[in-house]
This record gives sequence, C-alpha cells and structure tokens, in this order.
Amino acid sequence: MITRTMQPVQTISLSADGNDSAPDQSWQSQLSGALRDPGALLSAVGLDERWLPGARAGHQAFEVRVPQAYLSRIKKGDPNDPLLRQVLPLGSETQTVAGYVTDPLEEADHTPAAGLIHKYAARVLMIASGACAINCRYCFRRHFPYEDHAASRAQWHKTLDYLRDDASLIEAILSGGDPLVSSDARLSWLVGELDGIPHLKRLRLHTRLPVVIPDRVDDAMLEWLAATRLQKVIVLHINHANEIDDNVIRACDRLKRVGVTLLNQSVLLRGVNDNIEALRALSERLFEAGILPYYLHVLDPVAGAAHFDVPDDEAQRLHDTLRDCLPGFLLPRLVREVPGEKAKTPVQAHHTSSAP
Ligand SMILES: *Cc1c(COP(=O)(O)O)cnc(C)c1O
Ligand code: SF4
Repeated sequence: MITRTMQPVQTISLSADGNDSAPDQSWQSQLSGALRDPGALLSAVGLDERWLPGARAGHQAFEVRVPQAYLSRIKKGDPNDPLLRQVLPLGSETQTVAGYVTDPLEEADHTPAAGLIHKYAARVLMIASGACAINCRYCFRRHFPYEDHAASRAQWHKTLDYLRDDASLIEAILSGGDPLVSSDARLSWLVGELDGIPHLKRLRLHTRLPVVIPDRVDDAMLEWLAATRLQKVIVLHINHANEIDDNVIRACDRLKRVGVTLLNQSVLLRGVNDNIEALRALSERLFEAGILPYYLHVLDPVAGAAHFDVPDDEAQRLHDTLRDCLPGFLLPRLVREVPGEKAKTPVQAHHTSSAP
C-alpha cells in the first residue's frame, strides 16, 4: 500500500537529451518532473523488457520516483549500477520474508502529537514533509502512514507547544519523508518558530534532497538557514561515492558557507556498498565534499527490502576492515535501530578469540 501524501500528476518526458540534469530548471520543476513510471525508468537506464514485470510488481508496492539529476549519475545498461539498485523496483519486493515487517521501528507508538516522534533524550524528530524527492527501495518508511503524521499548519502549533513545554529538549530534528520537499516559505516560518524556543540550541535536518536535486540548495533556502540563531546540522543520506558529483559538491559548499555542519548517514546495502572498496571510497569522497561520515546503518527489517540485507557478522567484518584503512574521523559508527532503546545501538563484533 502506498501511503505517501504527495501525488503530483506527471507526464514522463524523455527528451532527446534525457540524460541532462536540467540545470536551468527550478528544483520544484525538477521535483515534479521526476520519473515515476517503471517502463520509463528501464528505458532511461537502458535495460530491456525482461526487467519490466518485476519493476511493475515492485512499483505496485512502493512507487518509482527518480529525478533526472539523480538519473544522470546512473551508468546506462548496467543492472548492477549501485545508484540504480537503490531506485529500481524488483519483483522480490513483493515476497513475504519472515521478520520483515511494515513498521520495524515501532514509531507509531512514539507520536505525542501529529508529525512528532519523541524517542530519544534532548532531541525530538518532526516530520516536516511526508514526501520524498526519490523513492529508495530499502526505505524503512516505505509503509509509514504519512497522511496520519505529516502535520497541517494547525497541527504544527500543537507540536510547537509540545517543544515549548519540554525544557529538556535541546535539538529539533526535521525529518520526513524529506523535510526539504517543503517550500522555503513554510520552512522559514517553522524555523523561525523553533528559533523562538529558548531551550533549543540546535536545528538538524535529515535530507537526501541536496544530493538528489542539488539545485534545492538555492538562495531562498540559504536565507532562512543563515537567519536562525540555532546551530545547524544537516545529515545527508548518501550510500555510494558515485552519488557525489560536482553539483553536489557545489551545494555542500554553499551550505558550509552559511555555517552548516555536514554529516552523512548511509545504509549498508547488499549490491550497493557491501564491500570495502565502496565503503572506503564513500568516506573519502564525502570528505572531499566537506561531509563527515556519521552513521552506517544496518538495514531495518522492512517488508520488501530483504534482498538488501547484509548479515550482522559480515557487517562487523566489513566495519573492522574499514577501521584499518581509514583515519578515525572518516569511520562511520555501525549502528542499528532497536525499538524501545534510548539511542541507536552499536552493532558489536562478537570476536571469537582465535589467538591464545
Ligand atoms: C535517529 C533518531 C534520532 C537522532 O538520533 P542521533 O543518534 O542523535 O542521530 C532522534 N529521534 C529519532 C526518532 C530517531 O530515529
Ligand atoms: S529519501 Fe529517505 S525517507 Fe525518502 S525514500 Fe529515500 S530513504 Fe526513504
């Protein structure tokens, strides 16, 4: 069941130069012009009809969505391209796999107000938009009932009251969906309200938009970011070095110039980044873009994503090896989210000691 809130009606335009990232289009038109049809995705990336039944079946469960700017970084004719694997629906998504459920994080139990998730000390997560610029096949929110949680303006007042009343809160986290799908007018209003809550010190955004559509980082966005007294952290979600092209680097530069600290979280994904070379190259490339690796998540067991799973012991071995080939500041923390825990839980290596 698709529960996303945004439903733009869109025709697919595959222009002669369909590989262009359309640099002279606004981010809004790039967003609404995102490719949303499984057949069009296959032709855009040069894959044949054999992929269509699977792509259609997966699309039924969770719709395809890929903007041109992201598509342009996918190598054509390669079904194993690490960016394509993140967005191409497969028939296996419709299989039921034991242990893979629709709400793996049990977030439905932690919503004191619409659009609010308060699970961890001193920080609260707000769903600033139910929609995303891209639909990632591994997404742990692929079954999240967004229409129940993405708040209206009236509901925001209740959410803001909740934040005002809890002086233990230091950090407000805007998440989603993708919070940057919201308009700058709305974000500017919201951040202004947060700014006025004296106990808040930090504003954090979790977003994939500056990567997926780098033109999202425009003057209007930089304006409200520059205006707030809150310290700003943006956690980008990048899983592979190939996602970081020159446009992404420029967007990151602009964010840093208004004082944003840039971090990254990745998900360890079978067939995308489940090897040392990919993980090492990702950390190096992140740093070139001025972004520090923060978390490497193991997959949440969400129904439809089992084919991305990397078992814990393999994840631990990869992480141990990664530690040996990177400076400490480029090593992300290997974590999982355990429902009911007070923080992300480190994935621990259980070393069976072989040495005496
Ligand atoms: C991940 C998460 C946070 C932030 O956790 P950090 O460890 O500070 O990055 C906050 N709230 C919720 C509900 C989360 O899932
Ligand atoms: S951008 Fe994030 S929330 Fe949206 S589909 Fe991708 S992983 Fe899920």
